[in-house]
Amino acid sequence: MRPDILNPLFAEVSALKGVGSAQVRQLARLKIARVIDLAFHLPTMMIERQSVERLDETLVGQPVIVPLTPARHDRGGPRSPLRVAAVDRGGQWVDLVYFGQTASWAQTRLPIGVEKRITGKLDRYGQKLQIAHPEVAAMDAGPPGQTREPVYPLTEGVTNRRMGQLVAEALGRVPALPEWIEPSVLARQGWAGFAESLAAAHRMERGRDRLAYDELLANQLALMLVRQRARSRKGRALPGTGQLADALRSRLPWPLTGAQTRVIGEILGDMAQAEPMLRLVQGDVGSGKTLVALFACLAAIESGAQAALLAPTEILARQHHATLIKLGADLGIRIALLTGRDKGKVREQLLADLAAGRINLLVGTHAIFQEAVDYHDLGLVVVDEQHRFGVAQRLTLAAKGRTPPHVLAMTATPIPRSLALTRFGEMDQSMIDERPPGRQPIETRVMGPERLEELIAGLARHVEGGGQAYWVCPLVEGSEDADEAAATTRAAFLKARLGEARVGLVHGQMKGPEKDAVMADFAAGRLALLVATTVIEVGVDVPNATLMIIEAAERFGLAQLHQLRGRVGRGSGLSRCLLLRGDELSETARSRLKLMRETNDGFRIAEEDLKLRGAGEILGTRQSGEEAFRFADPVRVQHYVGMARADARLLLDRDGGLDGARGQAARLLLYLFDRDAGVAMLRGG
Ligand code: ADP
Ligand code: MG
Repeated sequence: MRPDILNPLFAEVSALKGVGSAQVRQLARLKIARVIDLAFHLPTMMIERQSVERLDETLVGQPVIVPLTPARHDRGGPRSPLRVAAVDRGGQWVDLVYFGQTASWAQTRLPIGVEKRITGKLDRYGQKLQIAHPEVAAMDAGPPGQTREPVYPLTEGVTNRRMGQLVAEALGRVPALPEWIEPSVLARQGWAGFAESLAAAHRMERGRDRLAYDELLANQLALMLVRQRARSRKGRALPGTGQLADALRSRLPWPLTGAQTRVIGEILGDMAQAEPMLRLVQGDVGSGKTLVALFACLAAIESGAQAALLAPTEILARQHHATLIKLGADLGIRIALLTGRDKGKVREQLLADLAAGRINLLVGTHAIFQEAVDYHDLGLVVVDEQHRFGVAQRLTLAAKGRTPPHVLAMTATPIPRSLALTRFGEMDQSMIDERPPGRQPIETRVMGPERLEELIAGLARHVEGGGQAYWVCPLVEGSEDADEAAATTRAAFLKARLGEARVGLVHGQMKGPEKDAVMADFAAGRLALLVATTVIEVGVDVPNATLMIIEAAERFGLAQLHQLRGRVGRGSGLSRCLLLRGDELSETARSRLKLMRETNDGFRIAEEDLKLRGAGEILGTRQSGEEAFRFADPVRVQHYVGMARADARLLLDRDGGLDGARGQAARLLLYLFDRDAGVAMLRGG
């Protein structure tokens, strides 16, 4: 239960003066629903208004406060705005322009011949000076009002002034709260209390730093509570026997890389303990994570438990299943596939086999964690492409099974360390920082649209020579139909050039079985070219495909380009990636494509991407629907992450139940930053 002291902040905005249903809808567009959302709605800048006696050219573009005398009201046609011609004390003319106001309004507010104090931004319109929608005050209304004013992100129907009022009301409702930050940290940073810092942040004074820190602290606390909870339930040691692992190792056509061996060791070390494993394996695309996952699964199976592997998409689940079946052939284990698509008798039989323990390893999409799916004895859960899943989903995973299972997460999106801690701080980290030997770097080139013909000729030669290739079409903003149309048109065009039978198409709107059939044809070499939208972004593995063409490459994020490029370069042949760019490129787009040309290093690309786009995009939090950070841009405040982590740890070491005075304060913090799932972790077993 949320502590009562926070109720005023968590009330709906409609509780505020003058906020009716229309305004509620307007504010909702800014994701403002509660009073606290308003209190956290920070300005983006301050405007400084100059109070002047006379207007001149040098003031154009600036906010001003100036005494003006209206001389004429001019209401053109029904569609044109109201114009009030006014003059300053030096005889300079300026038009005051209002859309949607009547002449009678002007007669009351701006009577002719009466000097008024006018506030607004001075613009030039053709030969004339003008001010659009200025505020009007009487000359004797006291000294000129605020000359400094915060500028808020706005939406139609809510003026900056109105937003300022709403925010002020919201700030008035912030109660005095006990301090949750470690006193020594507070003193060292010289930070004010929470409420004071929040008010200061609205004046664009120092204050935002503390809020960012608060948010990171809430985040770290929540992650640690998740970890504390997950590990408080005693799990089961799965030490394995090494029997299946040895059999697999002797069958592999190549030795494991040093990094694979090391990470497998870290994982088996965890699994040999009764405390449930919570480990994240990072490895660049093509570093061989699937095999590492399989060794973990074998240890579970050797110990008599079942393993489950969760993939973010159906295509990936199928591919993992096929790969694992191939690798695990004649090890005497049963590997099955379950996706949302399986229905009826087949599904029932599969569920029965799973419940009876006749299936050792289940691969699938999130369907494998639905209520109805009962495991005989689930010991290990592997989550592939972890960044696609949110914390909430990670939590439901850990709840399956009689005893909490070991959890192994894998991600191919290299994540800079500070980010890994903010996002996956509850997990231990392993890194596969080495690729299988003999891999050639992927040669990357950027081509302008004028070279399309040349590119297609090259593609035709590649295909003639028995090569396979991908052609990726971009997502068109805002419309899946449009993506499909673009990809379909491109596929038709390429079919006409390369031959109908050689070109396949997959996109997100296709039915599952259709998609599978195309993927299977491509994997088996029956298709030479696969035209696709980003559905093939993660994980797809066809080593014979050595050419990747990405159309309108400037529309993709860097990490995404890197992922896509990682679909080639998986065999020992030389691979190429051609980035087809549009006509007009921004400066950043240009430098991003240049970086892609220069490096194959996923970590370097991730760091740059982080700088360019911010954390939410990189982590794909959009996809997982997880709340991003309001204040703590993990790039800008990297140095606070470690501090917040230490602070959180100290607090939990002293008061793991958050029962003491500071613990209680920290609970408030968790609610304020919507990390109260962490509080729930404190209750129950
Ligand atoms: P990731 O999931 O990390 O992107 P995969 O697990 O799909 O990479 O592996 C990429 C390719 O490398 C696969 O074709 C796999 O069979 C191969 N591979 C994995 N480990 C090794 C190794 N030690 N030596 C050679 N090839 C390997
Ligand atoms: Mg993979």
